[in-house]
Amino acid sequence: MTGLTRRDLGKLLGATGAGISASAIFSPFAKAQAAGKVVIVGGGAGGATVAHYVKKEAPALDVTLIEANSTYSSSFFSNLYIGGFRTLASLNHGYAGLRKIGVKVVHDYATDVDTTKKTVRTRSGKTYSYDRLVLSPGIDIKYDSIAGYSRAAAAVMPHAYNTDAAQKRLLKRQLEAMKDGGTVVMAMPNNPFRCPPGPYERAAMIAHYLKTKKPKSKLVIFDPKKAFSKQPVFVEAYDKYYKGILELNLTTDIDDFSIASVDPKTKEIITKAGKKAKADVANVIPQQRAGEIAMKAGCTEGDWCPINPENFSSKKVKDVYVLGDAAVAVEMPKSAFSANSQAKVVAADILAELAKKEKFPARYRNTCWSLVAPDDCVKIGASYAPKDGKLDPSGSFVSQRGEDAGVRKQNYAESVGWYDGIVADMFAKTVSGQPATKKG
Ligand SMILES: Cc1cc2nc3c(=O)[nH]c(=O)nc-3n(C[C@H](O)[C@H](O)[C@H](O)COP(=O)(O)OP(=O)(O)OC[C@H]3O[C@@H](n4cnc5c(N)ncnc54)[C@H](O)[C@@H]3O)c2cc1C
Repeated sequence: MTGLTRRDLGKLLGATGAGISASAIFSPFAKAQAAGKVVIVGGGAGGATVAHYVKKEAPALDVTLIEANSTYSSSFFSNLYIGGFRTLASLNHGYAGLRKIGVKVVHDYATDVDTTKKTVRTRSGKTYSYDRLVLSPGIDIKYDSIAGYSRAAAAVMPHAYNTDAAQKRLLKRQLEAMKDGGTVVMAMPNNPFRCPPGPYERAAMIAHYLKTKKPKSKLVIFDPKKAFSKQPVFVEAYDKYYKGILELNLTTDIDDFSIASVDPKTKEIITKAGKKAKADVANVIPQQRAGEIAMKAGCTEGDWCPINPENFSSKKVKDVYVLGDAAVAVEMPKSAFSANSQAKVVAADILAELAKKEKFPARYRNTCWSLVAPDDCVKIGASYAPKDGKLDPSGSFVSQRGEDAGVRKQNYAESVGWYDGIVADMFAKTVSGQPATKKG
């Protein structure tokens, strides 16, 4: 477990919020008296954590987790697979731990929610009734946000930006099959999207792969934005490690590097500024929206789901919570860390609601680490509390240019410990002595 103690893991995950103990957030009276049915759709960073905490804190509750896949392939740390720092298998997690504590895990696809009858219907024709419903379906890719892109085009120009392991494998295999001297093109998304630093960490990981395995090759990046998360330290790393390999085209007042169209037959990408690139490998990351079930439940306004920041209950539908990437929590980035932190507040709120007991003030936390080169990892983070209908950030921090190599190496060790900790926390796993990183 990379030498980290449970206490260290608790600190990395922000415990049950920003430094609040479990006993403070989960009232012992609510634990004992909560009764009823909780249904959770989506067994990822948000949903699996809610299932774990609700069942652990109130074993008498009937908790059903509806998750489409029997194996969760995490998006977080998938860039490290692309870069050659982890195997694809190391991103896989099952649901045995949650079953063991009594969560009813159902592998099925939720197709509809009847918010009057308080039921969820699934593709296999089953119906589940709830007292409280939790939706953490993550994102759906908006294929039509780029002319020429589609689900079929993604089989040629992968986005590799959701929990589909096949997409990640496809991108990696395409890089491996590319000739030395080839061109990789990345099309970046516009805000808001899953994991704001994610595409830029991916750029570093692809450039690292090219530098070490195919040094005559190039990575061309088209970005519709003028600025992005952790930009100063990413740009510093791109210059320091990947000069001559990585070309970053950010939109300016003069040039618009949004993608005008892609052609999966020729692998051509054309920007609104008229710049064309013919890719050997194209990684196209389109716009995104809340997972479809959130729309079916009537929780969306536009693409995302407005929530009350005190507890992530839906602003639109009673007795429904929406958390993780699907929720509008503007100030908090769409990250696994955020979803896991929100989940503990949601779990505590459900217990207090069902037991009609006192609620405690919500506190949230986020940290996002990004690996930019071997042993060089940067981070950004903050704590959040509800204030005036928003999430008020405090104690924010971000890596600085020119930092000591020792600091960056320590950041990497922290990130690896965080990964082990969050997946144990999501899936009610016992943390094993297995090493978290494998070359592959
Ligand atoms: C390349 C990349 C790198 C990232 N790096 C980091 C990082 O370093 N740190 C970090 O904190 N975050 C990172 N993230 C972001 C992180 O993966 C997400 O923010 C997080 O997974 C969101 O959690 P969630 O519960 O909202 O969705 P998910 O974790 O995606 O879980 C959603 C689950 O719901 C299921 N589902 C959806 N609809 C249905 C349905 N109708 N019926 C049944 N099941 C359904 C899906 O199968 C999925 O398992 C990264 C993301 C990417 C793409």
